[in-house]
This record gives sequence, C-alpha cells and structure tokens, in this order.
Amino acid sequence: MDFGLSGRSEEWREKLQAFFDGEVLPHHRGWLDHTAKGEPAPFMEDLQRKARAAGLWNLGLPELGEDEPGTRLSNLEYAPLAEIMGRLFWAPEVFNCQAPDVPNMIALQNCATPEQKARWLQPLLEARTRSAFGMTEPDVASSDATNIATRMVRDGDDYVINGRKWFITGAAHPKCGFLIVMGVTDSDADRTRRHSCVIVPMDTPGVRLVRRLRWMGCEDHVAPIGELSFENVRVSRANLLAAEGEGFKVAQIRLGPARIHHCMRSIGLCELLIELMMVRSSERSAFGRNVMQYDTVQRWIAESRVELEQARLLTYRCAWRLDQAGHHGAWRDVSLIKVAVPAMLQKIADRAVQVFGAMGGSDDTPIHQALAWGRLLRIGDGPDEVHLRQIFRMEPMPRWSIANSPYLSAHPFERRQYM
Ligand SMILES: Cc1cc2nc3c(=O)[nH]c(=O)nc-3n(C[C@H](O)[C@H](O)[C@H](O)COP(=O)(O)OP(=O)(O)OC[C@H]3O[C@@H](n4cnc5c(N)ncnc54)[C@H](O)[C@@H]3O)c2cc1C
Repeated sequence: MDFGLSGRSEEWREKLQAFFDGEVLPHHRGWLDHTAKGEPAPFMEDLQRKARAAGLWNLGLPELGEDEPGTRLSNLEYAPLAEIMGRLFWAPEVFNCQAPDVPNMIALQNCATPEQKARWLQPLLEARTRSAFGMTEPDVASSDATNIATRMVRDGDDYVINGRKWFITGAAHPKCGFLIVMGVTDSDADRTRRHSCVIVPMDTPGVRLVRRLRWMGCEDHVAPIGELSFENVRVSRANLLAAEGEGFKVAQIRLGPARIHHCMRSIGLCELLIELMMVRSSERSAFGRNVMQYDTVQRWIAESRVELEQARLLTYRCAWRLDQAGHHGAWRDVSLIKVAVPAMLQKIADRAVQVFGAMGGSDDTPIHQALAWGRLLRIGDGPDEVHLRQIFRMEPMPRWSIANSPYLSAHPFERRQYM
C-alpha cells in the first residue's frame, strides 16, 4: 500500500487548488447571499464553463476504460481532490462532481445500454440536466431495501409505476430531468431479486413533487430534497436499467462511490473546521486569557487532528482497495469508513460549535450545517447500525476457546476443577 500522491494526482491537486482559491472561494459570499434569498447563483454556469475549459470536469468518474468520459482518475487519486471540493458545500457542482449525480453517472456507465447512455448519461456529463435516485419510502423501513414496495407492473411495452418516495436528494432541483426509481417488478421472486431500477423522466404524467424537504432545518441548495408520488406513471420498458430483478445490483454499483465520495468530502470539511477553531480561538479572549490558551480548547483541536488523520488513512485505504478489488472486494472497507467518518465529522463540528460560542450555531458559519451533515451521513446511504452489523458479520471467529486459549492464564479454569 502506497498512499503517496502519484505525479498525476499531485498535478491535478495543484490545478484544482489554484482554481478553487482563485475562482470558487471569491464567490462564496455571493453564493450564500443568493441562496438565502432562494435564488440560483447567477455565476454558476460561468464557473462551470471555466472549470470545464480548464479540464477540471467530471473528476469523480472511475477508470473504466480509455474511451470512458471524465478524467479517469483512480479513487485514490480522486481522494485529495474531493477533499478540496468538500470545503464548500456547493464547490463540487462547479466541477460536475456533486451527489447524487456522480453515483448516478457511475450506475449509467456500468448498467445502461448505448441508447440509454446517449439519452440520459450524456446530458448529465455536460451538466445540461440533473438527476436523483429514488429508493427510500415513507411507509416502509427503507434501511432494509428488500422492503421497498413501489409497484412497477408490466403492461405491453411499458411499466406502470405506483408508489411514494421521500428524502430523494436532487428531486426538487428545477433542472432535475430524471430519476432512477427502484421498485418491485416481481413480488414472487426471491427477496433480493424482486426489485428493478427504471429511469423515469421527471416530466412523465403522474410524477408529482409533493413537497420540498429540509434536514434538521437545513436546505440542501445543491441538490434540494423532495418527496414524490407516482400515480399510474407509464414509462417504456426500454428505460429498464440492467435486467429485471437486478435493482440491488444497480443500487450497489452506485452506493460504493456515493459513500466514499461523501467521506472524502467530509475530510476536507473537517480540515476547514479545524482551521476555523484555530483562528477563532486565537482571536478571542475570555476571563483574561486567549481562548486558545485554555487546555480544553487545545485538547479539542489536537483530538480533532488525531481523529481526522485516522479517518483520512482509513478512507485512503478504502479508495486503494476499491481500485484494486472493485466494490465487492472493498465492501467491508466502505462500511468501516461509512461509520467512522460521519462520527468524526459530527464530533469535530460539535467541538467547533463550542469554540465559536453562539456564532457556531448561526448561519454566519458553516458549522451547524457541518453538524447536520455529519448527522445525516449516519443515516443516509444506510444507517450506522446496518454497517456495524455487516462489519460484525465479517469479523472472523478465532479458532480457540476461552478455556484453552494460549493468551489467557489457566488459573480460573484449574481452580474450577477443584471446587
Ligand atoms: C438528507 C437525506 C437525504 C437522503 N437522500 C436520499 C436519496 O437521495 N435517495 C434515497 O433513496 N434515500 C435517501 N435518503 C434516505 C436514507 O437513505 C434513509 O433514510 C435510510 O436508508 C434509512 O431508512 P429509513 O429512514 O426508512 O429508516 P428505517 O429503515 O426506518 O430505520 C430506522 C432506524 O432503525 C434502526 N435499524 C435499521 N436497521 C437496523 C439493523 N439492521 N440493526 C439495528 N438497527 C437497525 C436504525 O437505528 C435506523 O436508523 C436520504 C435521507 C436523508 C436524511
């Protein structure tokens, strides 16, 4: 395992950092002002044009082959780039690297037919449209995806879809052109073969945006969250992604990248949180001392650094394993970071709120959003408990018993024999 940046990755990192500092960051206050008024940022398309012209476009797509789109960086090469983008919630959109579009692009790259790619993937690659992935439903415990109940019934050359989805990231975006919807196509099949994924254009009759949702009071301005109903929605069978019964396969192909990219960006966000704690505590005095001089604050910052470096290494190892062994080989590693990184983000953001005092919970800093984001990541893309169960199940059982363990003293067992 070598986690040093390759020459190629270092070049991309420098280029992205320069663009971020010179072009993106100066717009941050403007972005906040516009989104607070509920307006789209008027400079976004111009920034996207510049990023694309600089080659900083579709950086998060995997190395699938020479003729595939994007920069074709490995996951390990992409990690430091995602960290830079993670410092601002809206920065990934400048480079067409935002969720949920990138995982959807990866699902389409892997599972779509050439016709589907031309119609749905190409506009996404060019940021002419946006997308969403619709799995979760209000009426069933969706952390167990076999519960998903939306019906997709074959009728001639079409599927007729009926159901309800909620917490669908990106579905409330005005540019959202289509969703990948997961539903039941064969209720008699094995539990993991009942579901399929179908591409549903947002303007299909019967698709209704019921409401826009917020998470812990925060609006997702990059990919607004929606609740949707599907009433007799008719789509062609040509919109089926992969084969019937392969809904889980499609979901898994997109979930690995979705999870690791969130973790990579969260690490960049935590770097910013540590910087914020350093600067704020060095500039403020309480009870005759600089806040930074208090042991507690020093300890919070130092502990944050320890946790951040651990999480970064774990994430790099996961990226490396995804590159080496694909998502099947990296399943355990993805679960490890999916639990570790959000917990770290939540802890560091909580410390940052404390260091900032009242300001830490205000809209004047990104800290409370970081806290909400960390909390979300402990549920979204599978709750902690589901990943911890996976991790536990993969824990090998040692081949010794307590009574004959070479690592333990024999005394308690010998004593028991004489009692
Ligand atoms: C902001 C946000 C954005 C989202 N974006 C999307 C999206 O774009 N598309 C989409 O389809 N979904 C999305 N989701 C939904 C998310 O993936 C689900 O909320 C998640 O999978 C959990 O499903 P649930 O809410 O139905 O919780 P439930 O399944 O009802 O689970 C509730 C709780 O039960 C417990 N639990 C469940 N299973 C186990 C277990 N095996 N062991 C122990 N305890 C367990 C856990 O504590 C869990 O949190 C989003 C959610 C949020 C909050």
